[in-house]
Amino acid sequence: MIYDLIVIGAGSGGVRSARIAATHGAKVAIIEGSKFGGTCVNLGCVPKKLFYYVSQFNKDLDNYASYGWNVKEKKLNWKKFITKKDNEINRLNSIYKNLLLKNKVTIINGFASFIDKNTVKVGNKKFKSKKFIIATGSKPRVLNNFQKFVHSSDDIFKIPTLPERMSILGGGYIAIEFACIFSNLGVKVDLLYRGNKILKEFDQDLTEKLQENMKNSKIKIHLNVEIKEISKSDKKNLVIKTNNKKIKTNYILSAIGREPNVDKLNLSEAKVQINDDGSIKANRDFQTTNENIYAIGDVLNYLNLTPMAIRQGHYISEKIFNKKTLEYDFKNVPTAVFSSPQLASVGLTLDAARLNRMECYELKTEFKSMKKSFKTNIKDTFYKLVVEKKSQKVIGAHILSDDAGELIQLLAILIVSGATLDDFKKTVPVHPTSSEEFITI
Ligand code: NDP
Repeated sequence: MIYDLIVIGAGSGGVRSARIAATHGAKVAIIEGSKFGGTCVNLGCVPKKLFYYVSQFNKDLDNYASYGWNVKEKKLNWKKFITKKDNEINRLNSIYKNLLLKNKVTIINGFASFIDKNTVKVGNKKFKSKKFIIATGSKPRVLNNFQKFVHSSDDIFKIPTLPERMSILGGGYIAIEFACIFSNLGVKVDLLYRGNKILKEFDQDLTEKLQENMKNSKIKIHLNVEIKEISKSDKKNLVIKTNNKKIKTNYILSAIGREPNVDKLNLSEAKVQINDDGSIKANRDFQTTNENIYAIGDVLNYLNLTPMAIRQGHYISEKIFNKKTLEYDFKNVPTAVFSSPQLASVGLTLDAARLNRMECYELKTEFKSMKKSFKTNIKDTFYKLVVEKKSQKVIGAHILSDDAGELIQLLAILIVSGATLDDFKKTVPVHPTSSEEFITI
């Protein structure tokens, strides 16, 4: 039998593309060597957000002590939490699987590798298809030399108990999110980053403010760090030697980026080329150097966010099997780092706008949220809008706040639909909220 479409990888993007193709009558199979739902559901966004929630409660309890609450015994049953988290993920795995079965997608368990332009092998079975979508995602980058001492973000979700001290390597999304999560849970966190600006793609005013907030939460941030040696000092303790200090720790999380997961695919047999960074070469329609093979999500190493993979998968299946070209705004993609406070962004920063030779200016406001009235003197909220001078269109929004992830979604709609600063100003604010400051900014 020859399938119309074989999707390789049943993560969020793969499942969406398979399902849409099947609803348009295509004969579809999906190949998955691990659990349904991919990184996002099993080892990424979903368990991370549950970790975020469990840690925020502790932070909130601290804050509300300043209102007069006296909670005598603060005790977290970590084992119970991990079991609950695992049950929730199993539930989501089944939803993904059932979604495929309901839409009559054939499920093939195992890892696929191409043996020619139209055929893949899974174990000793061969499967042919007219079209393929590669949606195999990414995997944690390995820290050469020290790998045996460190854990990746795949391992962190199974951590059996909370350590007293944790060192986190990296300055990107994962490093920052887990530094805040574990610090909020009471772990003493050292963050070790090779550069001098964490989250370097984000607006610098905001990342500096986030850094202040993290330091205020007792996270030790070590910048310009080069790791020279890691050793075990005894059963429980490790020592990290850097270019200028020694750090004692009980657990090391390496979060130094992710790499496209393409090793097992045998892409050369299918004439699919890869870029220098290991990502798959593709055009604007996500078509690879083999016209019948498409690639979506982290294998493209471009805005490695779950909703991007889903949109790309949906786009391809509509285009091929329904002759419809969906319109997406891939220029203004909102994103959020679930730090404490959260950092979120959509559209251009002022620096990026200037690089694009656009005449722009920014409006900003910084304040302490009302919720923390009695707690800390540090400002935990920072809003910034980037406005194009001539059109007065808001072309960027950058936020630091406890609910930045929720706010940025709505600001993204305004930016995608071309709202001007006047549209913001003529809207009546909701009082008392933090977000009314977007109108009075
Ligand atoms: P990021 O790309 O965000 O950050 C990687 C970090 O590791 C950077 O600080 C980088 O430093 C550093 N690094 C890279 N190579 C080395 C090396 N050889 N030695 C030391 N440090 C190194 O990757 P993450 O692993 O944090 O996350 C992977 C991706 O997953 C993210 O880019 C994002 O797309 C996605 N993600 C999204 C989340 C969300 O939406 N909330 C949450 C988590 C992940 P430098 O800056 O100097 O290059």
